[in-house]
Amino acid sequence: MNRYRLEQIVNEMIDTKQHFTFVYLSIDKFYSLKELYSEQMESILLQEFTNRLKMYFQDSVMARITINDFAILTPLGEWFIQGFLAYLEQHPIYIEGIALPLTVCGGISKYPEDQQTFNHLLKASHEIINKMHSDGGSTISSLSTADHKALSRRAMIEKRLLIALDQKDLKVLYQPQLNLKTKKIEGVEALVRWEDSELGIIPPDVLIPIAEETGLINEIGTFMLEKACEQAVIWKKKGHTIFVSVNSSVREFRDKNMVKIIRGVLDKTGCPASLLQIEITEKFALEAEAEGSIIKQMKQLQTDGVRFVLDDFGTGYASFRYMQLLPLEEFKIDKMFIATLAYQQKTQKLIHGMIQFGHSLNMRVLAEGVETEEQLDLLTQYNCNAAQGYHISRPIDANEISKLL
Ligand code: C2E
Ligand code: CA
Ligand code: CA
Repeated sequence: MNRYRLEQIVNEMIDTKQHFTFVYLSIDKFYSLKELYSEQMESILLQEFTNRLKMYFQDSVMARITINDFAILTPLGEWFIQGFLAYLEQHPIYIEGIALPLTVCGGISKYPEDQQTFNHLLKASHEIINKMHSDGGSTISSLSTADHKALSRRAMIEKRLLIALDQKDLKVLYQPQLNLKTKKIEGVEALVRWEDSELGIIPPDVLIPIAEETGLINEIGTFMLEKACEQAVIWKKKGHTIFVSVNSSVREFRDKNMVKIIRGVLDKTGCPASLLQIEITEKFALEAEAEGSIIKQMKQLQTDGVRFVLDDFGTGYASFRYMQLLPLEEFKIDKMFIATLAYQQKTQKLIHGMIQFGHSLNMRVLAEGVETEEQLDLLTQYNCNAAQGYHISRPIDANEISKLL
């Protein structure tokens, strides 16, 4: 049966509170097998494989999920399921008289102990299979209770995030950026904060990857953009012309309407484009390099007066190609380098070099994670343009920024 029918059966079993084990099996290296043999062989292989599944699992419910993935519902125990690998070895599939080097990996999840919905059973299975593949494949195993808990928490975060976005439960904190020439705050970086009434504080390092995967990053991005632009206008009206710097994920720029969205926010809030900065990571830069439409959107925004800044410089991919292609006006030296600045001569040379490198490209350079006076002095000495870090201020709310200004 297909995935759709399987989902119906699983839902019926869940509704009637029947316990079962969800087994997910994936044929390893299926695509290289396919290339080695012909199309016709591919269907023989799949037929022979399903025959073995039927022989071994007898009258369990079975479904084909993708071209080379299968799912089985069974009341049988883990040791029996794992025995399928030995069974396959003892009953090889022959093609033109040659035994195929066929291996599978699989995941076992239990209902209701491990996961409670069809989608979560599938997700847990994928998690197991991905782990198996990175360990070389050819095993059938289950996840630890801790892994299942982590998955469930993730699912909860996804669910609560939808509510948070709907009720505008996310908050924005701002961290000042100090101009090292004028010694004045020239801008602030907007950082997302989320405290959920049930889940507690979800740090951005957890939140952002989940949001990227589920696509909710676009909503978070627009929310942050709106808040930050609104705030820039409030400060400007009070006589403080400082820019706001917003973090952006490459996924947001895959939206062909990104230019329209950003222009829309600027219009709506009355924020001048020159007060908006967008921070992108090296990962973003690397992916943008291959996608002309992203570079085009960036250039359009740059023409409007929006500035692009490269975040976490030096930690991602040592590629300078994107420096030539993307309209970047500043980079931020990652806090990892600044941490050892005061006592490692090599780091001092490296950072001094990075700053000179940036200036030679007519770029501004900012140092992140500045925690001491000593670090700040050295950076000033190296002609670094700006600094950000706990020594200047932690991320704080808009009112506290106003007081600081
Ligand atoms: P990031 O863009 O590199 O942001 C700087 C991070 O360093 C912030 O962590 C900030 O609180 C922290 N930090 C600032 N000064 C210091 C310091 O002196 N010492 C140390 N040890 N840390 C310092 P935070 O707020 O937890 O954010 C983590 C990451 O999450 C950010 O790294 C950024 O990549 C991402 N992020 C945060 N907000 C957003 C957002 O609205 N959208 C997107 N796409 N990503 C965001
Ligand atoms: Ca940033
Ligand atoms: Ca950074």
